[in-house]
Amino acid sequence: MKKSLLVACFSFFAAATMAQNIQNNPGSNHGNKFEALGTILPTPNEYRTASGAPGPKYWQQRADYDIRAELDEENLRLTGSETITYFNNSPDPLTYLWLQLDENQHSSVNNANYQNSTTMPEVFTDRGLARLEEGNTDNKLGHQITKVTDALGKPLKYTINKTMMRLELPAVLKPGQRFVFKIDWHYTITDRMSRGGRGGYELFPEDGNYLFTITQWYPRLCVYSDFQGWQHNQFTGRGEFALTFGNFKVQMTVPADHVVGSTGECQNYAQVLTPAQLGRWQKAQTSREPVEVVTLEEAKAAESKKSKAKKTWIYKADNVRDFAWTSSRKFVWDAVPQNVQGKKIMCMSYYGKEAYGLYRKFSSKAVAHTVKTYSDFTIPYPYPVAISVEASNGMEYPMICFNFGRTEKDGTYSEGTKNGMLGVIIHEVGHNFFPMIINSDERQWTWMDEGLNTFVEYLTEELWDNKFPSKRGPAYSITDYMKLPKDELEPIMTNSENIARFGPNAYAKPATGLNILRETVVGRELFDYAFKEYARRWAFKHPTPADLFRTMNDATGENLDWFWRGWFYSTDACDISLDSVKYARADTDAALPNGRTMTRRIEKPLVNEFEDISKVRNREDKKIQFYTDRDTAARDFYWRYARGLASVDTSTYSTTMQVPYEQLDAAGKQQFANKHFYELSFSNKGGLVMPIIVEWTFKDGSKQVDRIPAQIWRGNEKQVVKFFMKDKEVTAIRLDPMRETADIDESNNTWGQIPAPSRFRAYKQKLNAARGQSQGVNPMQRAK
Ligand SMILES: [Zn+2]
Repeated sequence: MKKSLLVACFSFFAAATMAQNIQNNPGSNHGNKFEALGTILPTPNEYRTASGAPGPKYWQQRADYDIRAELDEENLRLTGSETITYFNNSPDPLTYLWLQLDENQHSSVNNANYQNSTTMPEVFTDRGLARLEEGNTDNKLGHQITKVTDALGKPLKYTINKTMMRLELPAVLKPGQRFVFKIDWHYTITDRMSRGGRGGYELFPEDGNYLFTITQWYPRLCVYSDFQGWQHNQFTGRGEFALTFGNFKVQMTVPADHVVGSTGECQNYAQVLTPAQLGRWQKAQTSREPVEVVTLEEAKAAESKKSKAKKTWIYKADNVRDFAWTSSRKFVWDAVPQNVQGKKIMCMSYYGKEAYGLYRKFSSKAVAHTVKTYSDFTIPYPYPVAISVEASNGMEYPMICFNFGRTEKDGTYSEGTKNGMLGVIIHEVGHNFFPMIINSDERQWTWMDEGLNTFVEYLTEELWDNKFPSKRGPAYSITDYMKLPKDELEPIMTNSENIARFGPNAYAKPATGLNILRETVVGRELFDYAFKEYARRWAFKHPTPADLFRTMNDATGENLDWFWRGWFYSTDACDISLDSVKYARADTDAALPNGRTMTRRIEKPLVNEFEDISKVRNREDKKIQFYTDRDTAARDFYWRYARGLASVDTSTYSTTMQVPYEQLDAAGKQQFANKHFYELSFSNKGGLVMPIIVEWTFKDGSKQVDRIPAQIWRGNEKQVVKFFMKDKEVTAIRLDPMRETADIDESNNTWGQIPAPSRFRAYKQKLNAARGQSQGVNPMQRAK
């Protein structure tokens, strides 16, 4: 899901206290932030290993579905009949099964979100009144279950608990056994635009047509797992889903002039398409550019006729965790193949005339770019199709997702709409990988799919166009969130329902954290290998946070527990302050000053929203070719205009500081005569431990960067000192010049004017310039 509504939420897990609970010795200035995660993570076992991989006895359940559905457009009703085959692959005997009835989200008697707090509105509308009245009666919305039987038609007992349904098994389902059962149901399709929710209809008043998005529509099996048993947390509209893999056969009967887009592959295009459309579909299989299988003219003609006849579309999908579809006579449908590591993926888009000016030009190309780029960073896209539907929202399902992006009436569009559309398409198509294939529990951990997906979305946006204005990903863009008061923050490791600031917490912060690991902590090569390994290990399985943390440690060869602890389990922020600068030279008999005032100058940032560290590295990497360079048809007015960089704040501020003066003698000065020695003192004001990145500007104008690993804070998590020797005189020092550590206060990062040097006593002994640096011998210490 792309956008999150900030709904009030309840809280009964004390997740926010987790950060304190994991400190070994909260009063100490060391021994907390670098302790191994240890007992915070579940004990490894034969299902999940200590290295983060599935264990030798890893298992997961499976559910196959055979569904017949009929869309009654006149009465806005969906009727379904499904046969489910449930495979018990667990070592446990089961006495019941749990299913999700998400449509009950809309029921006034069966919904689970009545627990949300609500406020009195300032303006009271008739719709608001109707909604409140509805809440006092049974609005008859939600799943109406009409029949539940075994394979032979014998009724089965079941109980509905709000959005969950427990089916009692007639006999214990032993390990290795399967159980076949049938459910008949129907529900009233709701107006998604006014009522909300992820599926429903949108009515276009101008032409009187509907666009249906049929999602979370059939009773779906809950996940039963080794790590938590049944996942049957209620669906409140917030925390998404935990779902079991299986094979689907679905037949949808819809008005004859509708075009259906769906998870899976259509089995009967020959029956549902006109000969001309079928010909264009065949032509699209080898086309380099998107081909309109259903044209704009055909869509416009269908809009005005409104057929009363019916047609049945048959789809099959293997090894998917869910199944969704869309149906409308408004649809233009285009398709283009994308080769992913030797396999053809049909990249397709469905959209009304309202989005034609944007979707026709960009949508299927963005789908193709996304499946290709994600495949490079994770695993090869395994499904035969990838679909983007314009439905004025942002929501994902296997092989199909719903996005926004409509033009003005005259077909023009703003830069914001275009980039928003590209971002949402990349994001929602990207969800195929997280969580559709790497099948984490969304209802428990929103960040495991949204955070990881937003991270790869960011990489994919950059590789579309290295000037793409990604909102989530660059470290500096998370600082407004991270500098909030502690009582307004919760750790990333917080249950989906209990998060107050959903977007920054579950999308931006984890994505930024992964980006910091990639660019700043372990480097692209180690990171990319490990992240790919996580995807490979957990593709078509159910990973937990520990499996990710352990795999990243295991495959990079870096113990990153300090990073998981700080970034994922705490609310600490990075604020490293450069507190003082000492400058010394070997004594050269000069008249020595008695200390001196030095000035801190606050420097403007080197990078801005148009070019963060990743974009700089992308630009410098000649192996990278950006989509908009490869396919110049994807350049438009905004691409050309966005080549310029925005201006930045250049204001300066000053503080002053006394520098101590040290007396010294003349011994050994020759070896040190051309060296410049600097001692920098840093303090950790934000609490989060991070690498210290020091940029030196020399008198001749040249620059150099030293990168000190975060482990420097091991001995003292609050203050550290580092000594450096330079061949050239330094005129300015700046911390984190590329803004890659999410430092929330950059005003204490720079030093503009270096004082005249104090002098120290130099010894001949074993010291010389080269050894003094390479072996870490510290002449300053000898002078004390
Ligand atoms: Zn999402």
